[in-house]
Amino acid sequence: MKKNADLIIKNATLWRKEGRGGVMVDASIAVADGSILKVGSRKDLSDVYTAPKTWDAGGKLLLPGFINTHCHLFQVFMRGLGKDLPFMDWMNQSVRLLMPLLDDEAVYLAAMVGCMEAIRTGTTTLVDFMYANVKPCLADAVLRAFDDCGIRGVLARGLTDIDKMPGTDRLPVTWQPVPETLADVDRLRAMYARHPRITFALAPSVIWAMTSQGLTEGAAYARTNDMVYTMHLLETADDDQFSLERYGKRTTTLLEELGIMAPNFLAVHAVRLEPEDFERFERYQVKVSHNPVANMILGSGAAPVRELNRRGIPIGLGTDGAASNDSQSLIEVMKSAALLQKVSLRDPAALSADQVFAMATKEGAMTIGMADQIGTLQPGKRADILVVDLDRPNTTPCFDPIASLVYSGDECNIHSVFIEGDLVLEAGAFTRFDEAQLIARANQKAQALYRDAQEK
Ligand SMILES: [Zn+2]
Repeated sequence: MKKNADLIIKNATLWRKEGRGGVMVDASIAVADGSILKVGSRKDLSDVYTAPKTWDAGGKLLLPGFINTHCHLFQVFMRGLGKDLPFMDWMNQSVRLLMPLLDDEAVYLAAMVGCMEAIRTGTTTLVDFMYANVKPCLADAVLRAFDDCGIRGVLARGLTDIDKMPGTDRLPVTWQPVPETLADVDRLRAMYARHPRITFALAPSVIWAMTSQGLTEGAAYARTNDMVYTMHLLETADDDQFSLERYGKRTTTLLEELGIMAPNFLAVHAVRLEPEDFERFERYQVKVSHNPVANMILGSGAAPVRELNRRGIPIGLGTDGAASNDSQSLIEVMKSAALLQKVSLRDPAALSADQVFAMATKEGAMTIGMADQIGTLQPGKRADILVVDLDRPNTTPCFDPIASLVYSGDECNIHSVFIEGDLVLEAGAFTRFDEAQLIARANQKAQALYRDAQEK
């Protein structure tokens, strides 16, 4: 007797690496309860499984969904502002300009638009580093967007417990004592405890937004609750300058002393690393989120990805927020990651298409503690699956689909997307909401916010 599945994706193709090349093989995938039951040939699966639904992939390529390890969805409303300015000026003319005016509707619409763009460009899991907590319960709006759009979301709730920040005379509107923030995280985790796609992380913003006591309290909470602890780290020289002035020691020296360097610590950017930083990352099994497009837009530099790779430190990819990287496409990030290493090291072999693809998938999963759930198409993992159309002008002819997608791919190649076994994008159209209506609402709301900011 045949076994039951919920869904069989049939008539698909998988890419198997073999030696220096690879082959496309016929494949089907059986899905039940949001996870992959079996990956096999069409005949294997039809012999073993029966399902009420089948979906014909028309011979297209199946790949694991991409994982965006760092973004700020609320910044979708700041896309295009403060361009071509130095770091602190950019911050004052984009993020700090609109952030105080955000409300529930603005955060929800920004998050929905950001998630739409993410899904369309192949992202199925997204870590939202949500530090714009300028009013109570704004993170709730991001979580509603995760729920509504069907993406797998990690809400990395921001921590900021310092009331004076460099580069501005204004009080940071996100300031809140850490115990109060953690009580809010308790509330959110309880609300979504049984949600199949939503999990949580903690996100101390940056060294100059936190007291050392707050950093320690947050780390203890993350450790106790088995959560990722993620922080902007050494994006520019500002971190070490602040840390040396305030504590008389470099940023990672302080973090090591505070017990924050640990396997659950996800360092975002890690551009300005010194030799002792590599040693610390290796010793404490720290993870890295690499955001090459944002680093280039803000002129921060090239993160030392090859050296991190050499030491076996897992690296995921991130877009960063739309204020610093206007596009939220991980396809663009993959290409940029490879090109930035090649040009900065003057070595075309510095980072390959296969390596950046791994960073966008299975290595990214390791950086957020989800390697057992996502990142590859294997039985037991969640059914987060991209259906990739390579019969497009930009990917014709195609000899190596990974190299084609990384170097010439764009959203036209992402035909359909399954997340948790649900078809959220089918032939380029969203299945769960009216895209045009949401975009119209988001435009209207963002323009109104911008007008209000100009009048203040
Ligand atoms: Zn960021």
